[in-house]
Amino acid sequence: MNPAHLTIKEAAENIAERKISVTELVSSCLKEIEKHNTDLNAYLNIFDDSLEEAKKKDEELSGYPKKDSPQIPSLFGIPIAVKDNILVKDKICTAGSKILENFVAPYDATVISKLKKHGAILIGKTNLDEFAMGSSTENSAFGPTKNPHDSSRVAGGSSGGSAAAVAANMCLGALGSDTGGSIRQPASFCGTVGFKPTYGTVSRHGLIAMASSLDQIGPLTKTVDDAEIIYKAISGGDDFDSTSVKNLPLPSKKERKDLVFGIPKEYFSEGLDPEVEKKIRKTIEKMKDAGVAFKEISLPSFEYALAAYYVIVPAEISANLARYDGIRYGFSHQEAKNLLEVYNKSRHAGFGDEVKRRIMLGTYTLSAGYYDAYYIKAQKVRRVIKEGFARAFEEIDLLLGPTTSTTAFQLGENTKDPLKMYLADIYTVAVNLAGLPAISIPAGKIGNLPVGLQLIGKWFEEENIFEAAKFIEKLITSR
Ligand code: GLN
Repeated sequence: MNPAHLTIKEAAENIAERKISVTELVSSCLKEIEKHNTDLNAYLNIFDDSLEEAKKKDEELSGYPKKDSPQIPSLFGIPIAVKDNILVKDKICTAGSKILENFVAPYDATVISKLKKHGAILIGKTNLDEFAMGSSTENSAFGPTKNPHDSSRVAGGSSGGSAAAVAANMCLGALGSDTGGSIRQPASFCGTVGFKPTYGTVSRHGLIAMASSLDQIGPLTKTVDDAEIIYKAISGGDDFDSTSVKNLPLPSKKERKDLVFGIPKEYFSEGLDPEVEKKIRKTIEKMKDAGVAFKEISLPSFEYALAAYYVIVPAEISANLARYDGIRYGFSHQEAKNLLEVYNKSRHAGFGDEVKRRIMLGTYTLSAGYYDAYYIKAQKVRRVIKEGFARAFEEIDLLLGPTTSTTAFQLGENTKDPLKMYLADIYTVAVNLAGLPAISIPAGKIGNLPVGLQLIGKWFEEENIFEAAKFIEKLITSR
């Protein structure tokens, strides 16, 4: 058995029973990295102290009583990869951008302190689209990440590095961030589980901001169980993030047999690859055979989601990225005659095309005279979308549909056409606008390319998502 191929749950059991050591587990992941990373480019930085950390954990383990002791922290000795827009103290954090190429994080993000507290071993930082803007990881200043199932194809994005790292067994689980689909879409392309929690349940402190009112950190893993383990470890209120929810509503968990699933007809309309549709419908049939209740529903405002997203997100980006001025962080252009030139030249040379495009769009929609016409209008649409979901959830508990309209596309296929690239998130962005929790789980393959099935839950009802996703995961793998 190659320990790198284990799930988090299995590895934790094996460690508790002293069947494998943490050192063995971490070194087997490092071996996979050595084998695959040159080709896949999933990691930007591999932590050279991870083996030492593993040894320390093995020593620590002798202090715990043998066998599944409840005292052993849930992620004890588990190698976890971290998207490179989340700060890990004393490690470089690039956000996939040249402008932060040499930026060393001065503190741990809250999610990182929590992972450490739960015993995880951080194994390295993963590739992403620059500042998490993109759907293929091709916008990274450090080259694209390739899909482990077919290296001529993209891994998805923006958390493509994390998805590829999990899919290629280069870690047991990873953190990503999801502003419009960046956890779920790469998870779908790489055949992993990807979970985007309800906005506010996981602290954003120490996450390099893209669009603050949508950004959420979440796990990418091999199984739903594992996603739940990481989610439980990283969630909870945080004084450092005023939008994090301090007193979570008590989880309202339903029995699996009482859950009613909604099929939004807009998720099965024009643009959906017929082969992907077939896979999702097949799972629905299987669920029906198992006695699951379904309802056809409609989300009429769905069609405006992408447009509203691409007004609101650039607006927030233009504000959030104003801080990269060539003085406060990382890269600074050396040949400037005055302060304004420092700003201009550093930003010109430090940012890539997509980032510049969004800064310009956002600055435009926020400017006097256009603010009402674009930004305010988009905020109104956002509210209508949220209300549309709320109405749907009066009738059903979970929405089920595809995560993406196609399987992973070819490297370079969409890079010349930003609008086509934006369409890669057609089924994911509305969730972020509404702040809902959603998961993508593998639902079989077309050829060798994975298909992702998406479940969207009510606000704060992550428990129901996990319950349903585990059930569907079992149905699919029993095929
Ligand atoms: N692909 C989307 C975008 O480019 C989503 C990105 C994300 O979720 N970080 O905005």
